Amino acid sequence: MSDADVIIVGAGPTGLMLAGELCLAGVRPLVLERHPQIRDIPKASGLGGQILELLRYRGLLAWFSSASDDPHPPLRVPFGGVHVDLTELVESPLHAMAIPQSRLERLLDERACELGAEIRRGHEVTGVSQDGATVTVDVRGPAVPYQVSTGYLVGCDGPRSRVRDLTGIPFPGTTYPEVNRLGVVTVPDSVTRLDNGDLEVPGLGTIRTGFTRTERGLFGFGGANGGTMSVFTIEDEPVEYDDDEPMTLPEFRASVRRVLGGDLPLGEARRLSRWQFQDRQAERYRDGRVLLAGDAAHLLPATGAALNLGMLDAVNLAWKLAAEIQSWAPPGLLGTYHDERQYAGARALLQTRAQVALRRGHDPAADALRQVFQELLVDEPARRRIGALIAGADLRYPGGNSHPLIGTFAPDLTLQTDRGETSVAGLLDRARPVFLDLAGRTDLRDIAGDWADRVEIRTAKTDDRPADALLIRPDAHVAWVAAVSEPADTAAPALREALTHWFGAPLEPGG
Ligand SMILES: Cc1cc2nc3c(=O)[nH]c(=O)nc-3n(C[C@H](O)[C@H](O)[C@H](O)COP(=O)(O)OP(=O)(O)OC[C@H]3O[C@@H](n4cnc5c(N)ncnc54)[C@H](O)[C@@H]3O)c2cc1C
Repeated sequence: MSDADVIIVGAGPTGLMLAGELCLAGVRPLVLERHPQIRDIPKASGLGGQILELLRYRGLLAWFSSASDDPHPPLRVPFGGVHVDLTELVESPLHAMAIPQSRLERLLDERACELGAEIRRGHEVTGVSQDGATVTVDVRGPAVPYQVSTGYLVGCDGPRSRVRDLTGIPFPGTTYPEVNRLGVVTVPDSVTRLDNGDLEVPGLGTIRTGFTRTERGLFGFGGANGGTMSVFTIEDEPVEYDDDEPMTLPEFRASVRRVLGGDLPLGEARRLSRWQFQDRQAERYRDGRVLLAGDAAHLLPATGAALNLGMLDAVNLAWKLAAEIQSWAPPGLLGTYHDERQYAGARALLQTRAQVALRRGHDPAADALRQVFQELLVDEPARRRIGALIAGADLRYPGGNSHPLIGTFAPDLTLQTDRGETSVAGLLDRARPVFLDLAGRTDLRDIAGDWADRVEIRTAKTDDRPADALLIRPDAHVAWVAAVSEPADTAAPALREALTHWFGAPLEPGG
């Protein structure tokens, strides 16, 4: 007998998102977090990508937006130092929200606790072992060490994942030599802010907002709002530093001087951080009853995409784990977590590695690459494409080639139902699978009825319907589609197969 159905190691954004999603799916997880409280340390300053669409589909976006400093920041993205301007796109594929990571974690913590998750802070996992039926976990609690057992354990314990190491899952990749430094500092009186956002600095002249490439690296500056400004450097040939010591203002000032070739006056430090990018991916996201998600499973060599990727790992995993625990999972369902999310991770690595190539190099050839890239991005289709790649909005899980919608994030169609107007987003707030009949297909609805204990059956009309019916998974991805006017003799068996493949055996007659 287990102490918990699922134990989550780590209460970062991934672990907390997973805890909330498991609760929605009817499973009460236990979260073990080594730190006694949420820490206000400088980490991500915002959330971007398809996770914001998912939060909207869960009915959480307005709540998150109300806690955000800027729910709709201008979409000018520094893609490897090249500017991608998505501000003028109608319905940009990339969404973003300014929210410090600690505030994000508080919201996710509140949601998970409200839904019934148990979160033990100050409890560090020190050992993990498993047999065919149980995972045993050694915990160093605030009072005494203890053991707990569980059916499944998920390591959401960040880049240096103990769970990953204890399970022996290789984490191959590269640590890049460039050193990144970020400082949020007050704007000193000697610096003048111009109307267009640029800075006028005695001795250095005008410094443009955004990124400036110099012989020693990349200098970035932005957001001189509310009396503070963000200053960023990347040095290609870094000076030695002590990784165990936090960055100081003199260290940051010296880095700015090396990159800019002159002194930029910096006020008081509000936030200082230093890091090297890594490019790694776990060889396996699952080992028996132990799974990995978030930074424990992948590290990307550029900012802005990691939270999106990790929190969406959690959304993909939660309903599959719940299916196992509630004994309706079809064979192989949990295995699709590795297949789909390792694929998503590889896409994120693709675009972040491309950013490494774009930001490296100070010779004419590297400058030419950046210029060609910048020129291509004048065209709207190219900007849309790169925006979708950054967001993960173009992600299509492999496996379903019979209709272009299968495997993609379900489009948010406007729906007319007998209960009024809604949209696909409005059907997924409870994270239940949905069979959506858009063409009065009683033949298909009758089949879906055999799965009515697991699948919501909804009927609606929509303008320009893309299909007669859709089967949508709890993570908002399309599992199956009946094409417009598809005859019953092909649609009916394919629907049965898809329902069985994703949601297990049908109800017993009379069940
Ligand atoms: C300076 C900086 C800026 C960043 N900016 C961005 C950005 O703009 N956008 C973006 O998307 N991402 C950004 N990131 C990356 C983002 O912060 C991470 O991707 C994110 O924190 C990963 O979340 P996670 O939950 O997977 O892991 P983590 O946030 O690392 O959480 C892991 C948790 O596990 C706990 N833990 C570890 N070991 C144990 C154990 N043995 N027992 C119990 N608990 C344990 C840890 O204490 C921690 O709370 C930035 C990171 C840094 C450092």
